[in-house]
Amino acid sequence: MSTVSVPRPLTIFDTSLRDGEQAPGNAMSLQQKLRIARELEALGVNTIEAGFPAASDNDLAAVQAIAEAVRDSRICAFARASRTDIEAAARAVEKAQASQIEILGVASEIHLRHKRQITREQALEEIESAVELARRAGFDDICVAPEDATRAEPEFLGAMCAAAARAGATMILIPDTVGCLLPGRVPALIETVRSHVPAAVKVAMHAHDDLGLAVANTLAAIEAGIDEIQVTLCGIGERAGNCALEEVVAALAAHPAHFNRSTTIDSRRIYAACRLLVETLQLPIARGKAVIGENAFATAAGIHQAAIIRNPQTYEFLEPDMFGAERRMVISRHSGRHALKAKIEAFGLAPTPGLIESIYRELTASAEPVCSDSTLRSLVLRNTAEAAAPL
Ligand code: MN
Repeated sequence: MSTVSVPRPLTIFDTSLRDGEQAPGNAMSLQQKLRIARELEALGVNTIEAGFPAASDNDLAAVQAIAEAVRDSRICAFARASRTDIEAAARAVEKAQASQIEILGVASEIHLRHKRQITREQALEEIESAVELARRAGFDDICVAPEDATRAEPEFLGAMCAAAARAGATMILIPDTVGCLLPGRVPALIETVRSHVPAAVKVAMHAHDDLGLAVANTLAAIEAGIDEIQVTLCGIGERAGNCALEEVVAALAAHPAHFNRSTTIDSRRIYAACRLLVETLQLPIARGKAVIGENAFATAAGIHQAAIIRNPQTYEFLEPDMFGAERRMVISRHSGRHALKAKIEAFGLAPTPGLIESIYRELTASAEPVCSDSTLRSLVLRNTAEAAAPL
């Protein structure tokens, strides 16, 4: 007898409005942030990192507005391990239905020496008192992010996680701040954290795409049993960006038995959510980008098109429907007679063999990379008229 195991929940934390927004070219107005936050809430994101309230009055006001408007997602405010940052964060999320603070710690030697110029002992004391302060400020959900964790000495990283948990942290984030991580290193890294905190403390992953590995590292973390992942729409974020929400959700949806994890994401809203961000930021998206690129569900090659017309699964592992996107048959000089016939039928016109043949010959000789629907329609009408004309 086979047993079906119930998928374990995986929570989704979106940082489009913090890590994403702080990258060059991604600054948003309060109204724009609010619109994105509402879209993230509708998408089913568990936690929205709404911003860094201590950064400026504008940031504080934006986090406050989001905390007031959003009801279904937890609102997280980012803070350094300082009194002013923690107090600003507490003010910012006062009206939230559910809130969290994410406090930055210092994990790596290079950050201790060259960024903060503090000793390991000072870094441990700092994080302990910051967590205590956050608790006194009213937070019961406290995430500690030992910055640059992936370049830290495992022993010191463990000590920092233990100190944070002792002081009351409820979650430890593993930030791959500089994007140096490899998927094969992920299980040991998670084990370092887990072995230093009580079982009730959750562990989360924050990956950067400097090596093009943010999604791979995040999937490795999911395989290693991580509780939460931090992602952004379209993968926006510092430098090469963060882990793209749509790509991880696609991988989970495409391989449900492999991952056996459940999320609250409504995948059919993904395409619309990403389009909203693209339009808000005037963000250029590579044509071939997974899930949201112009060509992600488009084909122009004749052999592929003929097979897709018979059964889309021949060349589509991901169904566009699942993400609220649409399949596109692009007519070009690489297209074949099957796709032409299907297009002409879709126009409500009669695709006679002679008509298909003459348009096919015209297209294969064309210098144009693609033939738009309107061009094709006029080609069809012209050819039909010529065929009907008396000799
Ligand atoms: Mn980051």
